[in-house]
Order: sequence, then structure tokens, then C-alpha cells
Amino acid sequence: MAAGEEEGSAPEPEQEPAAEEPRSFKDLGVTDVLCEACDQLGWKVPTKIQVEAIPVALQGRDVIGLAETGSGKTGAFALPILQALLETPQRLFALVLTPTRELAFQISEQFEALGSSIGVQSTVIVGGIDTMSQSLALAKKPHVIIATPGRLVDHLENTKGFNLRALKFLVMDEADRILNMDFETEVDKILKVIPRDRKTFLFSATMTKKVQKLQRAALKNPVKCAVSSKYQTVEKLQQYYIFIPSKFKDSYLVYILNELAGNSFMIFCSTCNNTQRTALLLRNLGFTAIPLHGQMSQNKRLGSLNKFKAKARSILLATDVASRGLDIPHVDVVINFDIPTHSKDYIHRVGRTARAGRSGKSITFVTQYDVELFQRIEHLIGKKLPAFPMQEEEVMMLTERVAEAQRIARMELREQGEKKRSRNDDDDTEEAIGVRNKVAGGKKKKRKAF
Ligand code: AMP
Repeated sequence: MAAGEEEGSAPEPEQEPAAEEPRSFKDLGVTDVLCEACDQLGWKVPTKIQVEAIPVALQGRDVIGLAETGSGKTGAFALPILQALLETPQRLFALVLTPTRELAFQISEQFEALGSSIGVQSTVIVGGIDTMSQSLALAKKPHVIIATPGRLVDHLENTKGFNLRALKFLVMDEADRILNMDFETEVDKILKVIPRDRKTFLFSATMTKKVQKLQRAALKNPVKCAVSSKYQTVEKLQQYYIFIPSKFKDSYLVYILNELAGNSFMIFCSTCNNTQRTALLLRNLGFTAIPLHGQMSQNKRLGSLNKFKAKARSILLATDVASRGLDIPHVDVVINFDIPTHSKDYIHRVGRTARAGRSGKSITFVTQYDVELFQRIEHLIGKKLPAFPMQEEEVMMLTERVAEAQRIARMELREQGEKKRSRNDDDDTEEAIGVRNKVAGGKKKKRKAF
């Protein structure tokens, strides 16, 4: 379809003029008590998306924000909501829909941090967590609900006395991901039971056809705020690659971790199994490594993330479940241990470092099997990457110790697998749910996986 063919159904959103020099939150119209809250969080000047979105949101307009996690977008929608809440206090005032549980908790943390001095109460409603305690939390009528669409619909349908008929603000965060994760039906259901007379903010990293459709269905005369051109990696990020034989990947990883000791690392692997294996391997070699992947229970995932955030662990190993959206501000080095199959995931992965003006490094492992994928990445980011400097002889000196640690890790992995099978308690693993869904063709349980 030619661009713009669908335009007859809704006017194109106004485009905000490019942002000027960062101003203060006060200049944007943010009220004193919230300016203080920003100050206490160490937010000295507003980020670009905040400069663009906050004034229009405060004027009462609907907003489409094209911005990624890391841009400060949560503040861009939370501050106008909190300010409106200050002006007209009301329970069940705002709903934030977001694609994943981790993101929901992060958003909630920012609402709590910004709103604590004004007594704002928020609740997170996501899958994988006991429904009963959520019902009790909803009965207390919090000001802000941060939810994944599936579990919220469950409550709207099944929790007595809970409705969103008085809602004033709806935020759809990471709308492209919400729709890609097949939450379209749930979003439609939610839109049907909330007032039409409300303010809506839609944030998305990309403007896909599905997002445009949602925009037409849910927003009124919105203002578009776009901050970064697509697929750009930030200037303060030093990106490298290493070209190595596949069979020595582990030794090169250990070499790099030693070389860059003292930094915090996020290491991306392609599968849950390899994430777990590599974490065990590194632990056997004395590194403080912790895994984060979809086969872990929600509690374990949050536990891992919190330990890493609190700097009790310096290495987080993750699958792409964790490559987008997670707010981990202090990652110094991102390692693509397994090269991403989709080049766009490269941008999201390396976006975990060099955030909010800090510098950072990324190192991508390229084996004999990955050359084509690597070339695609270079093409996407529009530059040739330099090789990370290494002393090959030193790497080779590590191979014996690494081989022993690999052997132990394989054994541990086998033991863990056996224990899991014997406990037969894999209910909350994504894999188990995936298999059950395939067997049952069920939709309901699938949501639990996110
Ligand atoms: P977000 O894009 O909303 O996930 O935010 C990414 C990170 O930037 C979070 O850790 C925020 O606390 C932080 N942040 C948001 N706004 C600002 C600001 N104006 N100045 C500095 N850091 C900020």
C-alpha cells in the first residue's frame, strides 16, 4: 500500500518542532513539588522526549511519543499524569499498559519515586503473580495501575467491584511490542470499557501499521513527539567485534571479562540453555554471574535483576527477553556472546549501555558461522566496527581451566534438569507454557509467559 493511502480516516498528527536546548522541568510547566522530586532522582535537565512531550501533555493534548526505553519516556508520561492528579485527585486515575512484567515494575518504581512526596499509590497487575493479592490491591483503588494487558483483562472480567469507568489517563507504553505480542484483542477489550473522554499517550519505538491503526482507534487529535532517528546507536558507545573460532568462544569470553575486570557486564546469549550454561561456567571460574531468561520463574527473574541492579553481581547473562526495555543504568559493557539473528536486536542489546549520557562498550563475538549476520548489523548501523584488541596467546593459556569449568557446568546443568523433571514443577517456565499452549491450543495461559 502506498504511504498515506489510509490517511482519509484520521488526520495526521501534528509534528512537534525539533527540541531546542534542554530547559528545566519548571520551564516545561512542571509544578514545584514534582520538580523537586525530579531533582531528588538526580534528573537535572529534562531529556529530549520530556522537553517535547511534557508541555503538550500538560496542555491536555493526546501524545504519540516515538522514543525508546532509555530516552526518559516514563518521566515524559508520568509527570503530566502526576500533575493532573495533583490538580484533581481521584482514585483509579491512570492506567499504563506495557508489554512485559519487568517493564511494569520499572514503570511503577518511577511512579513511586516521582509521586511519593504527594502520596501517590500505584499497583502492578501482571501475569505470573497471585491473582488474589492483586484483587485486594485493586480493591484499595490505587491512583495508578501499571499492567500487562492480559492480566488486566482477567481482572476486568473476574474481579468483583473493579472497573475503570472513571479513568482519566491511558498510557500505552511500547505499543509496538504490545501489538507484536498478540495483545491486540486484550487492548481492544480494555478500550471498550474505559471512558472515551480521557487523555491518551501512546509510546512506541517504531511506528508500525498496527500502531497506526491503534493510534486511529484510541487517540484524539494527537501531537507527535519523535526524538531519535531510527536505529541509531549513541555516540558515547564504543562498539567492537572479535572474529574467533566458535570452539574457543568461552575462552575469549573469560579473557575479555578479565581484561575489563571492575566493570559491570551484560552478556547476551541466544537460548535459555546457553544462558544458564554460561552463567554456571563463569561461576565455576569465580565470576559473580547471574542468569536472566524465560525458563526461570518470575520471582527468580526479578531476584536476578535486583541482585544485578544492586551491584551484588557484576555479570548478567540474558536472552533477548531482557534485551529491550530493562532499566539497568550502570551497565558498562554489553557482550553479544551469541550474535543476534535479527539485526534490530543488536541495537536494542547495545542500547543497554551508554545510557543517559554515560559512555559504554559493546563487543560482538563473530564466529565463522556469523559473518553474514555481522555484515547485516554493520549495514544497519551504517558503519564498520573496529576489532577489539586482544592477546591471542593469553587467551590460549586459559583454555585448560575453561575446559574444566565447562565440564563441571555441563554436569550441573544436567543435574538441574533432572531435579526440575523430578520436581515436576515447571509450571511457570515459558517453555512449559509454550508446549502446553501448542498441545491445548489455549490462549489464556500463553499470556503468562511474558
Ligand atoms: P526510561 O526511558 O523512562 O526507561 O528512562 C531511562 C532512565 O533514565 C531511567 O533510569 C530514568 O530514571 C532516567 N531518567 C529519566 N529522565 C531523566 C532525566 N531527565 N535526567 C536523567 N535521567 C533521567
